[in-house]
Amino acid sequence: MGTFAFLEKALAKITTNTLNFSCASCSGAELPYNLLLLLMRTTLHRVGIAKTHHELVSSPLPRWFEVLLTEKFFNACIIHEEEKKNEKNIFCLDCCTSICPHCLSLHNSHRLLQIRRYVYHDVIRLDDAAKLVDCDYVQPYITNSAKVVFINQRPQTRLRSSGNICNTCDRALQDSYLFCSLSCKINYLLSIQGGFSKFFFECKYLPLPESGI
Ligand SMILES: [Zn+2]
Ligand SMILES: [Zn+2]
Ligand SMILES: [Zn+2]
Repeated sequence: MGTFAFLEKALAKITTNTLNFSCASCSGAELPYNLLLLLMRTTLHRVGIAKTHHELVSSPLPRWFEVLLTEKFFNACIIHEEEKKNEKNIFCLDCCTSICPHCLSLHNSHRLLQIRRYVYHDVIRLDDAAKLVDCDYVQPYITNSAKVVFINQRPQTRLRSSGNICNTCDRALQDSYLFCSLSCKINYLLSIQGGFSKFFFECKYLPLPESGI
């Protein structure tokens, strides 16, 4: 497959599956930062310029966070295809990958993040998120009596709300919040010089909750 065919295929996939975003000033299609970076890396690797995805383009973000933003959760685990409850609903920060509950024994001492679904999108508990990143001004939602935050922004209709909206994606928010999701906050911080330097916290220990897998 030629370089451009690959790029076109990847772009088509991204555009149809996940992206409904558009540039605020020109209404042209816009890729979120993390997906674009991923695409660049993969392409450089594909065409042989870089030996690995990471060789040429280095991101200012920790790898685990980049992967968290782009990872697909709730697919069946390939290793545990035959098992029941094999949805990949856990993110291992140390391995930077999504895993299913049957995979847990291999990640015993690793930092693990429970991923949940809320209105068909991936969320994490605010308590967990707040150990890893600065969640200030990210609007939490309540599901199953737990406060959660969205990992990524959600596609939406074009109608602009007249009230308080997300600084990055224009989604309507309650008054005291600036961002609808962690990705909208980091995208905003990346646009300000040095903006994200205080976003990430050092977290050495992150266990799953006792119940609720
Ligand atoms: Zn598994
Ligand atoms: Zn692991
Ligand atoms: Zn947003």
